[in-house]
Amino acid sequence: MALPNHNRKVVLARRPDGMPVEDDFRLINDPVPEPGPGELLVRAHYLSADPFQRMRLGAGSRYGKTLDIGDVIKGRLVGEVVRSNNADYQVGDFVEGMLGWQTYAISDGSTARAEYAPGITKVDPKIAPISAYLGILGFPGVTAYFALLEVCDPQAGETVVVTGAGGAVGSLAGQLAKIRGCRVVGIAGSDEKLNHIVDELGFDAGINYRTTPDMLAALRRDCPKGIDVHFDNVGGDIAHTIVHHLARNARVVLVGNISQNNLPEKPFRPDVTGLLMTARAMTKGFIVYDWEDRADEARSAIAGWLAEGKIRYRETISEGIDSAPAAFISMLQGGNIGKQLIRLDDL
Ligand code: NAP
Repeated sequence: MALPNHNRKVVLARRPDGMPVEDDFRLINDPVPEPGPGELLVRAHYLSADPFQRMRLGAGSRYGKTLDIGDVIKGRLVGEVVRSNNADYQVGDFVEGMLGWQTYAISDGSTARAEYAPGITKVDPKIAPISAYLGILGFPGVTAYFALLEVCDPQAGETVVVTGAGGAVGSLAGQLAKIRGCRVVGIAGSDEKLNHIVDELGFDAGINYRTTPDMLAALRRDCPKGIDVHFDNVGGDIAHTIVHHLARNARVVLVGNISQNNLPEKPFRPDVTGLLMTARAMTKGFIVYDWEDRADEARSAIAGWLAEGKIRYRETISEGIDSAPAAFISMLQGGNIGKQLIRLDDL
């Protein structure tokens, strides 16, 4: 296969101030790199837009190293091996990994993935379309699986509330809770998302946090027996309100904090530790990399439910690497249903 003249990359042009804008990113052209000894060259088919990337754009992060100005945007891709000097990978294999927002990427074939390492994993297009390995069969899927099923261990008849319910992680977490026989209430930011999670994914109820003036009253209405499990994808005011309606022995898994990630100042909120105490609530922070050695277990279980038709997924796809910054910003603002991806057919 002949290679094009250019590798197209999205780099950090300047650090965002609050919500990123497109001018914080720049598209550049570099020569397509040649793989050295032991290396392989991957042609990207899809790029992934993920909330964690926002935390890499700032000057400081508690959540891993930030980028320098001019660096390729840290991000996942799924693509095809087009050159290989590594016996473990053949031309035509498909792989997924944190290889950056670029059309062609070099990998040394490492499979080490913890803490944002650029290790790669082979993916099987016979099991699912390759895009799924950035979503339901990728890190979002692994996150939903372990944070819900292992950390919270929901039981039949319990009530599970999922925030960020229309997105990649939340839409799967809610479906897994339904498989466990729970009552599942999703919170999301548009009626279109609520229709999706209730009508297509089988959630029992949905609350639109943008249009509901009294969230606590809505939670009391939809969770009459209290909330046994809170799958927290967003943090902030919504998470704070949910604490007021936890059932005894509730489990709260802190998966994401997206409502706070673009705020220059974190607002003060009244203390809720007393409420957690009287509910005998267990609260646990979750980072998917702690579960990396069991990721295959999650992928094969999810693939099984997909094959049986017990779970479904949606993708929101923008076209071309030029669209990646806008797609990322749209995702941060709630423009996606399911997994936000960028398809690269225009290499
Ligand atoms: P996603 O839900 O597909 O997309 C992000 C969504 O966040 C947006 O669509 C938007 O939906 C919602 N959002 C944005 N601002 C919000 C706000 N102020 N309040 C409430 N919701 C807001 O993203 P994802 O990949 O599935 O990730 C979901 C969460 O899980 C993120 O917080 C992410 O950081 C976290 N995560 C954590 C781990 C881990 O290891 N801990 C791994 C993967 C993901 P609405 O329309 O509903 O506002």
